[in-house]
Amino acid sequence: MGTQAEVLLKVENLRKYFPIRKGILVQRKVGDVKAVDGVSFEVKQGETLGLVGESGCGKSTTGRTLLRLMEPTDGKIFFAGKEINNLPPSQMRSMRNQMQMIFQDPYASLNPRMTVGDIIGEPLLIHGLADNVKREQKVRKLLDVVGLSPYHGARYPHEFSGGQRQRIGIARALSVNPKLIVCDEPVSALDVSIQAQVVNLLEDLQEEFGLTYLFIAHDLSVVKHISDRVAVMYLGKIVELANYDELYKSPLHPYTVALLSAIPVPDPNTHKERIILKGDVPSPVNPPSGCRFHTRCPRAQEVCKQTDPEFRDAGNGHQVACHFAEQN
Ligand code: SF4
Repeated sequence: MGTQAEVLLKVENLRKYFPIRKGILVQRKVGDVKAVDGVSFEVKQGETLGLVGESGCGKSTTGRTLLRLMEPTDGKIFFAGKEINNLPPSQMRSMRNQMQMIFQDPYASLNPRMTVGDIIGEPLLIHGLADNVKREQKVRKLLDVVGLSPYHGARYPHEFSGGQRQRIGIARALSVNPKLIVCDEPVSALDVSIQAQVVNLLEDLQEEFGLTYLFIAHDLSVVKHISDRVAVMYLGKIVELANYDELYKSPLHPYTVALLSAIPVPDPNTHKERIILKGDVPSPVNPPSGCRFHTRCPRAQEVCKQTDPEFRDAGNGHQVACHFAEQN
């Protein structure tokens, strides 16, 4: 990907809160689950941005909110230079051709009563993009593109393996010629041997169709080979974002350091000490004061409890939110 590529997606201070209500007759709002709490990033045309964090950190909600499958609580979303957070549903529907999603559980996201051909062709039908003949031709081509056979179009999702079902989900996302695909943990439910095949397929398709990916995963090892840049999320916020080479070689945030220490090293002679974080991820209803990571951070100091570190540029486009990043 060229460094001069245009920005395709820009997210500014995105927030998604889910209200908590209590009461039997009258439901009162008593708080919010702050699933996404002020997230900003850009994805350039043709780039893959990896978005990584433990489950519950808000990464999937970020993906769904920026596609407006969930309405944002606050913040701005720009797609191809156009602000889309306030677009009325009719305009957003036509915009959605260009922004598709691949889901973690391919089986749950495929209608078991529809043939694979109908599933792949459904977005074309919904958006009125092709008549029956053209739709059939396109479905056949898409089956081929994702490594399936034309006769698979007449079968049902339960007749396929997990990896094949994810290929069907990818073909469906591709049917409307999107520019951006949000890949929401697309390989987490698959066997390790199949994961590599699906990641390779996504890479090939990116090259063939000039796609841009936001690739969500809970593990830094999964996004390593596919990402140009990687953003690390903790409790609703991005804590570090850098070029993938730089992030893996010189992580600045203690949370990233801990995540990296959990990746197994293939060489048995290399010893790597794993950093075990103490405690659980705190509740997003009532996140810790100051730096949200201070309750688990091995390097926390007094100031960390009081002051939320700014998400700042540490040079070379490497951004981090830690008071002591340069000492880590
Ligand atoms: Fe740890 Fe403090 Fe940095 Fe937060 S600001 S990551 S608590 S050292």
